[in-house]
Amino acid sequence: MYDENNIFAKILRNEIPCDIIYEDKFNLFFKDINPQAKIHVLGIPKFKCVDFTDFVNNAEEEKIISFFKSIKTVINKLRIQNNGYRIITNSGIDGGQEVPHYHIHILAGEKIGRLR
Ligand code: 5GP
Repeated sequence: MYDENNIFAKILRNEIPCDIIYEDKFNLFFKDINPQAKIHVLGIPKFKCVDFTDFVNNAEEEKIISFFKSIKTVINKLRIQNNGYRIITNSGIDGGQEVPHYHIHILAGEKIGRLR
């Protein structure tokens, strides 16, 4: 079940600020408050969904397509397509998801190390 009080829900309701990189009708991209790389951007759909599984199972196709295309738009905007980037989605306990609103991390701007 979706937690209306998660931090990204509050950002979407403009209850707390964020540093916006890109926004459109369905999607919002903003800087991570605790960056793990020189560039660390979070991307979220603007509607209630908990994680990747929830998003793919329940979002309208138009919104799924829009989300992934908006990631490409942000990659272009950040000018990281040539040097590269890493996209991560954490889900659930084993995935280490902290905020229960589906999001992707874009990490770039330096060589991103191995996970282990
Ligand atoms: P998760 O572990 O759920 O995949 O990632 C959650 C991310 O949200 C973390 O990287 C964390 O730094 C970021 N985060 C948590 N609270 C805030 C906040 O209030 N504002 C922003 N911009 N990012 C946040």
